[in-house]
Amino acid sequence: MNINGQTEVLGIIGNPVRHTLSPLIHNMLSELMERNIVYLPFEVKQNLKDAVKGAYELGITGMNVTVPYKTDVIPYLVETEELAEQIGAVNTLVRTQTGYAGYNTDIIGLLRELESEKVPLLGQHVVILGAGGAARATAFLCAKKKAASIVLLNRTIEKAEAIVCDVQNFLDKAINGSDTVITARPLEQYNMLNERTYIAFQCTQLGLYPQTDAVVIEDEQFYQKIMCGIDLIYNPAETKFMKLVKKAGKRAYNGLKMLLYQAVSAYEYWNDLKVPEEIIEKVYKQLLVELGQVGEMDD
Ligand code: NAP
Repeated sequence: MNINGQTEVLGIIGNPVRHTLSPLIHNMLSELMERNIVYLPFEVKQNLKDAVKGAYELGITGMNVTVPYKTDVIPYLVETEELAEQIGAVNTLVRTQTGYAGYNTDIIGLLRELESEKVPLLGQHVVILGAGGAARATAFLCAKKKAASIVLLNRTIEKAEAIVCDVQNFLDKAINGSDTVITARPLEQYNMLNERTYIAFQCTQLGLYPQTDAVVIEDEQFYQKIMCGIDLIYNPAETKFMKLVKKAGKRAYNGLKMLLYQAVSAYEYWNDLKVPEEIIEKVYKQLLVELGQVGEMDD
């Protein structure tokens, strides 16, 4: 990397933020795309408003935003893309003439992962485990892509109900009426799913390294109803949820491609370009090396 007077700066704000893989992904993208850009983590302990204003005044081209600021950052932006506003979460700030505009590329990242693995949402029955930020984005994506039904299963039912309410509003307004049926249920009612097969999204942190033996639903009967499982966790490469889906004879994927594609989509916004698939593939392989996951998955 040759840093000089022309080098542009990108970064990520969050707290904590030192563990993030984003600098690795973005700096590799810049190297492969031959761009004179450096990407840095910025740990913002307090005063998010000043951090956003300061970044803008310093000429920073674009920022990612991570936990705990994805919602709190919205008031400090000059505009927020409609879907990001509906979800209530922004993870990408794009520089404009008057301030930063906010986007949600987590949702685009998940969609691009599903497309690359040939998992359709249109007309499908979906079950989402969890009702945090990731589950919320997943529910909006499934609604936008016209899934036939979405069931949110969560330990705290009120949080699942709040997402159902917001997605229903979105369906009524933005999609102008839709046939998608969205409901919330307490986690322990997982055995009351009545459609024959579901696409399941695992959106809790259960199973995340180092607690790799944890899973939100242990009962193998549940996995008989799953035709495909996507765990948003990417470390370990194969979570217990994925093992149970595979044991039931179905396809399972982790969240590494989602992570990579959300970064690629942000990079494309910042630089107004399209990253070629062969470059995305190179970065993916490097991520597997960094995470010690080369050769860990059977397929
Ligand atoms: P979050 O907002 O904190 O939500 C966590 C969810 O997990 C909540 O619904 C919570 O239930 C549930 N949960 C936690 N402990 C539980 C337990 N012991 N039993 C049952 N449910 C439990 O987290 P998030 O931001 O949505 O992230 C969730 C996961 O997605 C994380 O592992 C994160 O790494 C992953 N993720 C991946 C990507 C990617 O790019 N691949 C992007 C975003 C997130 P309650 O509501 O009852 O507390």
